[in-house]
Amino acid sequence: MSDELKAASSVDAVIVGAGFSGLYLLHRLRKLGFSTRLFERGGGVGGTWYWNRYPGARCDVESMQYSYSFDEDLQQEWPWPEKFSAQPDILAYANHVADRFELRRHIDFDTEVNAAHFESGSRRWKIETDSGERLTAKYFIMATGCISTAQTPKLNGLTSYRGNTYHTGSWPHEKVDFTGQRIAVIGTGSSGIQTIPVLAEEAAHVTVFQRTPNYSIPSRNEPMTLEYADSWKNGYQEKRAEMRYAPNGVLREFNNKSALSVSESERQATYETRWKNGGSGFVAAFNNILTDQASNDSASEFVRNQIRRIVKNSETAELLAPKGYPIGTKRLCVDSDYFETYNRDNVDLVDISDAPIDRVTPEGLVANSQHYTFDSIVFATGFDAMTGTLFNVDIRGTDSVALKKKWYAGPRTYLGLMTAGFPNLFMITGPGSPSVKSNMITSIEQHVDLVTDSLVHMRDQGLDLMEPELDAENDWVEHVQVVAHKTLFPQANSWYMGANIPGKPRLFMPYIAGVGVYREICEKMVADGYAGFHFEAKTAIAAE
Ligand code: NAP
Repeated sequence: MSDELKAASSVDAVIVGAGFSGLYLLHRLRKLGFSTRLFERGGGVGGTWYWNRYPGARCDVESMQYSYSFDEDLQQEWPWPEKFSAQPDILAYANHVADRFELRRHIDFDTEVNAAHFESGSRRWKIETDSGERLTAKYFIMATGCISTAQTPKLNGLTSYRGNTYHTGSWPHEKVDFTGQRIAVIGTGSSGIQTIPVLAEEAAHVTVFQRTPNYSIPSRNEPMTLEYADSWKNGYQEKRAEMRYAPNGVLREFNNKSALSVSESERQATYETRWKNGGSGFVAAFNNILTDQASNDSASEFVRNQIRRIVKNSETAELLAPKGYPIGTKRLCVDSDYFETYNRDNVDLVDISDAPIDRVTPEGLVANSQHYTFDSIVFATGFDAMTGTLFNVDIRGTDSVALKKKWYAGPRTYLGLMTAGFPNLFMITGPGSPSVKSNMITSIEQHVDLVTDSLVHMRDQGLDLMEPELDAENDWVEHVQVVAHKTLFPQANSWYMGANIPGKPRLFMPYIAGVGVYREICEKMVADGYAGFHFEAKTAIAAE
């Protein structure tokens, strides 16, 4: 960014992203009297729910819990149509929030922030967008989500393909009609597992290319009943308060027994009940499924047996039954009739665990030495999670050090909130915070409150600059890893570990000690006078 370029405007805070983080942040900052600009690369609000419009997209956290708690009227009035909401309903909610709190007019849509450079002299961030606008801000806040940079594998010959290609993470806005088509789906993570059953209903034929089978639990989704909604709405305040200290930021039945402390019949009965009830609460069937190998083995085998029971072709069932990594250590999937879909005549499974897809041809693709012809290819191949979107912006801190350079061996943050050498740069649900290992909206609200409270603290105290101390950051980075390595999580090649992106450093990125534990750490940090953070008061030069 050229120094001669005069900033066109200056504000207190520039926010990137109009998903659930950005919307709440904008609302709070404006209410507190901070001047803001919010840039959003999409044409509308909703973040992940704006982009992930693939057929079958649905949240696997119950809507009564996957929703904002900051406004009592909002949570009392909003009618969720289903227990687990579909993407269009969540997007409608995000739009409602934007209108209800008059946020839309403060957002620049279809605008990407390309660069943000911290200028030590003025203590301001100089920001540049792809529309050519330049502005400065005291605070630069990345509210860009954890899984927002879709990854399409660099397959040989992909550009020669004559059919249509789609990625679940950047799905077209208009309906795609697959009627009569032969389609390929590559990828069997949460997105693939949700979309395959729906695509199979419409397409003439679906061929699924599976590199790693995933554990998936039926959602048992159902229409919302008035009674169920009221059971939440009467007492929402207390329930939300409890959620904020719950291990995953959600209320669910947690069994505080070891899987090994009960008889075989009680263990199986417990799994049966959880399977029948559905949802990702399956891994809370016992208190040590994610920390003890033998306990995990019992849960993993139970799910494999369910798959063997559901899928009629025993070879297909065996290919779909995950082995070699513990249940829950890759994101546990939640589905509607996923395994049942393989009993359809128009669905085939191709195992590519031994050899990757060889190449794409003008008509289809080659895998396992066989050529397959397709009208369309759907990539459900995931995201460059946690860091990818932060690196898409050329963020440079003190002495022009690039964030990407500082994090070359993996993300380094204090509390997942800030990183040393990048004053007044905040990340909402950044790496090193519970983020994706929690109900995202619970964690988003906590981070937004913490960031806005910090800004108010600085304003009240006449402070100009906030930055983590390097020692505090180093200790936190180590602590995040120590906690992760007490669990079975590091055993899996998951995107939590950066394992889905070739060349990405392998380390566990979210903080896994739990939402309540993390919140208490943050509360203590504030009570101890923002322990681990360094502040500087306004100086004459910076105030100019
Ligand atoms: P994902 O979990 O990363 O799954 C990507 C899939 O594509 C995996 O099966 C992966 O195989 C496969 N893949 C990647 N590159 C490949 C290649 N070159 N060749 C063949 N296969 C390849 O991505 P996702 O399904 O989009 O989900 C990402 C996250 O988004 C989820 O974990 C979840 O946090 C969130 N999400 C949530 C919901 C929900 O609330 N229900 C729905 C969708 C997504 P490997 O496993 O071998 O890498």
